[in-house]
Amino acid sequence: MKKIQMVDLHGQYLKIKEEVDAAIAGVLESCAFINGPEVKEFQKELETYLGVKHVIPCANGTDALQIAMMALDFQPGDEVITADFTYAATAEVIGLLKLKPVLVDVYKDNFSINPRAVEAAITERTKAIVPVHLFGQCVDMEQILDIAQRHNLAVIEDTAQAIGSEFTFSDGTVKKAGTMGTIGTTSFFPSKNLGAYGDGGAIYTNDDDLAKKLRMVANHGQSVQYYHDEIGVNSRLDSMQAAILRIKLRHLNEYAKARQHVATYYDNIFSQYSSLVVPDVANYSTHVYHQYTLQILACDRNELRKHLADKGIPAMIYYPLPLHTQKAYLDPRYKDGDFPITEELCRTVLSLPIHTEMEEEQMEYIVNSVLEFVQPKVLS
Ligand SMILES: *Cc1c(COP(=O)(O)O)cnc(C)c1O
Repeated sequence: MKKIQMVDLHGQYLKIKEEVDAAIAGVLESCAFINGPEVKEFQKELETYLGVKHVIPCANGTDALQIAMMALDFQPGDEVITADFTYAATAEVIGLLKLKPVLVDVYKDNFSINPRAVEAAITERTKAIVPVHLFGQCVDMEQILDIAQRHNLAVIEDTAQAIGSEFTFSDGTVKKAGTMGTIGTTSFFPSKNLGAYGDGGAIYTNDDDLAKKLRMVANHGQSVQYYHDEIGVNSRLDSMQAAILRIKLRHLNEYAKARQHVATYYDNIFSQYSSLVVPDVANYSTHVYHQYTLQILACDRNELRKHLADKGIPAMIYYPLPLHTQKAYLDPRYKDGDFPITEELCRTVLSLPIHTEMEEEQMEYIVNSVLEFVQPKVLS
């Protein structure tokens, strides 16, 4: 059996090696390393795939969030609401721009931000909501958009883990993650569902003026070369990464299917065990399974992780700490018990290997290894 990894980038590369190698060679030949034609082509292809008017490529997913907040002209002290259960990048850029991160709890069954908690956290200084489509499925965007509209707030969707995931509104309209709010952001970090072979990111919007502003902020605040209208940043996707992403974008739907196949296999077995909670998929969203995350009840999550490691199976804890207990984000407003669901999830979650190259034999071995631990052996 092939060695089990959280993500098998090499196995995936081998299947598209010829195309990728040729694309990289093409960029080398052209020497158009920055803002070359590959970047423009990738932008257009991603716009078509997502069904969004504007894609602005940038250097990584964290920059994408920062550029979004800069383009919306938020001022120091303005409040931005996001989930306590997420990757720190979201809160980081809020802090960097001297805005105030306001954290709220999530749903236990699908890990996504709780709209009722969002609404309860709104004050006169609130400027935006940042829903994070965690692990690969959309948050309840219909409710988030309704709240945002009633309170006149911007919505910045962090889709770093959910590119390609689709949300169905109650009137039947279907939209892709990142194309529903004011701005969407994503990351092309190698292990993300659409991963480059280095860093990359993108920002999406349907608003023409905002798109202009986002491009300007990402390019040193220039509207015209050497005319700087405001202070911006330098954040670019390079041509080599764009060329690779163009190839991988053509495979993205098939990659999602491969991940869903693994999740279904896990679900079918694990859902029969009361000590394991399988990830819920809300009826309003598809799930592209950036992660497959179990909640481990009635047995020690860390012991299970060790048991799996002893059997050569990696498993990760996304995330071990609620944001409000991270040293960098400590805030006297928050205390233990304020976010009971997030606090519980941080103690119980365990993400199993899920990727596009998984083999049946590996899946079977992982499932059996989990069950060995979960089902106490009967002593004879
Ligand atoms: C990966 C990730 C980011 C940051 O992306 P980078 O490209 O690594 O900067 C932001 N938000 C979430 C939810 C992520 O998973």
